[in-house]
Amino acid sequence: MGDACTLSCGHCSFKQDVYLGFGFRYIDLVSILEWYEVEEDRQIIKEFINEKEKSFECFDGLYICHECNFLLNKVYLHMKSETRSYTNSYNCPLCRTEMPSVPLINIQSEMIDCPDCKQEKLAVNFYMDWD
Ligand SMILES: [Zn+2]
Ligand SMILES: [Zn+2]
Repeated sequence: MGDACTLSCGHCSFKQDVYLGFGFRYIDLVSILEWYEVEEDRQIIKEFINEKEKSFECFDGLYICHECNFLLNKVYLHMKSETRSYTNSYNCPLCRTEMPSVPLINIQSEMIDCPDCKQEKLAVNFYMDWD
């Protein structure tokens, strides 16, 4: 199910642990509501729980700021019903730019620029599965 990995730069001391994927608490909206923190989104989740013909996607992903390259490891949530759809969104904590609407879930070495030195691409080392 989920993966945990460490991103590291061979040029500077940048290092970040990242969680990708989903666990057992992501399988339905009622479970998601138990841990989901953003209050505005919680209200919307509650509304969707009562809607008909709904579907959703929820997983931990990596948002990369296209302005400053900041890496934000956050949960992606997309919900859809007969009448409407909703996708959560984030702004970069550093430069406030709006993050991409869908984060990366599959990452590999030599794919992501180091957000600190911008000299090298980050190495990715997977170290465990999580649920
Ligand atoms: Zn670096
Ligand atoms: Zn940024």
